[in-house]
Amino acid sequence: MRLSQYFLPVLKENPAEAQIVSHRLMLRAGMIKQSSAGIYSWLPLGYKVLRKVEEIVHQEQQRVGHIPMLMPTLQSADLWKESGRYDAYGPEMLRIRDRQDRDMLYGPTNEEMITDIFRSHVGSYKDLPLTLYHIQWKFRDEIRPRFGVMRGREFLMKDGYNFDLTKEDALHAYNRHLVSYLRTYERMGLQAIPMRADSGPIGGDDTHEFLVLAETGESEVFYDSEITDLTFGDREIDPNDHDACRAVLEEFTSRYARTDETHDPEVFAKVPEERQRSARGIEVGQIFYFGTKYSDAMNAKVQGPDGKQVPVHMGSHGIGVSRLLGAIIEASHDDKGIIWPEGVTPFHAGIVNLKQGDAEADAACDALYNSLKALGLDPLYDDRKGGAGMKFATMDLIGLPWRITVGPRGLKNGVVELTSRRTGESEELPPEQAVEKIA
Ligand code: ATP
Ligand code: MG
Ligand code: MG
Ligand code: MG
Repeated sequence: MRLSQYFLPVLKENPAEAQIVSHRLMLRAGMIKQSSAGIYSWLPLGYKVLRKVEEIVHQEQQRVGHIPMLMPTLQSADLWKESGRYDAYGPEMLRIRDRQDRDMLYGPTNEEMITDIFRSHVGSYKDLPLTLYHIQWKFRDEIRPRFGVMRGREFLMKDGYNFDLTKEDALHAYNRHLVSYLRTYERMGLQAIPMRADSGPIGGDDTHEFLVLAETGESEVFYDSEITDLTFGDREIDPNDHDACRAVLEEFTSRYARTDETHDPEVFAKVPEERQRSARGIEVGQIFYFGTKYSDAMNAKVQGPDGKQVPVHMGSHGIGVSRLLGAIIEASHDDKGIIWPEGVTPFHAGIVNLKQGDAEADAACDALYNSLKALGLDPLYDDRKGGAGMKFATMDLIGLPWRITVGPRGLKNGVVELTSRRTGESEELPPEQAVEKIA
């Protein structure tokens, strides 16, 4: 993409309404624009990152055998009356009435709808296990929408639902989700720690939240510092291997790590004092096992191997796709702007032409641009007429991992300058070598 032909409305001033750094940087980098409280337009740069995050979530869901689909945002209230949650959900639910006077709502989550789909089409244990998921906009009329996309009212969520014959199988689905979530977050450059949590209006006993530690996080958390040494890395875990998935769950949840809702000072006191930590965190996902709560209420049964009708065991599993952009920026920025992890960066590298209009500099930039493209990379070429300071500031703000600076002086010696956004280190080298380093 050539910047002169792109739409990147960066702001020079710090927007007064932004209280935390990720919100400020998303506005300044021209990624989002608020349309009303907690509701945002995703401008091209923000949309690009959102799609990357979404794509990682899709890949990691499908890697463990979960099946993508898409359910609508607007739901009929009938199913929610059946489960009993229409009244229980409270004012966070946006209720709408259509022209036929039917009660509708903008879905805050989809347990009811997926259970209805399941019961309409599945009747035998032979069709289990089954895990379906979608990535769809949700609406929750949050009492205090704030911090940009971090606590929006309209937000993008991946929500997945497992259907299993037995509790044991459903707990395996739970463990498998934990495994896949650990990988998902690491691919985005995040450490998200599974912590014992409270199930809230979803219901159920077994639940973990995934938290990214950050001072601006809204959750208060308590943990054993050893947990931050754990990484999932590139292990290959067979998603059908119950023992292997359980071992990962045990490894990642055996140390003390809880949100304030489940925090127990007596148990915490047993953690060696030098390892006790209390901090703040951003909830980027949650997994639940809730057994037959919805299948009982909504009569979702299958025929078991013995011919008897039994309610299915279920769980639901959410990832805050749009919130993740805020979390990634909270975890990765400096005072000049965002520092995108490679896995989610909107462009792989920026090319800065120090002398736009100079035939040699223009030709060198075009050549670099084309070589990066030929390698399947996505460069952003700042081909505007403007000073170096302005161009560097833009690149630093939008946080691409690499910047290649091209100017007549370097070109005389056959070199360009390659700068890493993360380390700030620069080196001069021939253009072909700069391309090789990025690829
Ligand atoms: P919170 O405690 O932050 O209100 P939640 O526990 O109500 O979140 P869940 O029902 O667990 O949310 O939804 C799954 C995920 O969706 C959350 O882990 C979070 O990452 C994301 N999410 C929830 N509410 C919002 C929101 N208002 N804006 C953006 N993302 C959200
Ligand atoms: Mg909530
Ligand atoms: Mg929560
Ligand atoms: Mg939650």
